[in-house]
Amino acid sequence: MYKKLLNSQLSRITPEQYKTIGKTPVVLILDNIRSQHNIGAAFRTADAFAIEKIYLCGICAVPPSSEIRKAALGAEESVEWEYHEDTLTLVKTLKAKGITPLAVEQTENSVMLNRFIPEPGKKYALIFGNEVKGVSQSVVDICDGTIEIPQFGTKHSLNVSVSIGVVLWEVVSKMGRLFER
Ligand code: SAH
Repeated sequence: MYKKLLNSQLSRITPEQYKTIGKTPVVLILDNIRSQHNIGAAFRTADAFAIEKIYLCGICAVPPSSEIRKAALGAEESVEWEYHEDTLTLVKTLKAKGITPLAVEQTENSVMLNRFIPEPGKKYALIFGNEVKGVSQSVVDICDGTIEIPQFGTKHSLNVSVSIGVVLWEVVSKMGRLFER
């Protein structure tokens, strides 16, 4: 009926093949994420949605790390990454290269995720923030917009790695027709 598939039946590509496939025109910027588990989860999700690159900034730990690996399950070897000390400088550099920076954060005048429509031909840098402080205000200030995930319960925010999953799925599915694999 609905027999669960074995890993061997999922026919996934290899890390080498992953390097060559067309990528979703999105990079992730992790602004001072404290938990290595959250960083590992970001890698695993980025791999699933063929995200171009992850920028690890500030206090973010970097691979190789057994804690990151535990959550990433090896995705830290397929997804490209770079470390940058200062998130603000990085965002300015990417912006100058024509990449559109968007903070994923609860702000005044944020666009609710369901209403966000990616523009064809644009490449986005989606910026996620620290577990306690969120995305730095100075970084939010130079973004071209902010995206907020609507919430209906009692808690103020979602776990950052959960937010990455929610946002990437929505953005990737909306870009579905816009990029070729
Ligand atoms: N108390 C912090 C919460 C940080 S949650 C603050 O006030 O900013 C960690 C990160 O998860 C945030 O920086 C953001 O990138 C993401 N996040 C969590 N919930 C979110 C939501 N509802 N909408 C958009 N981003 C969210």
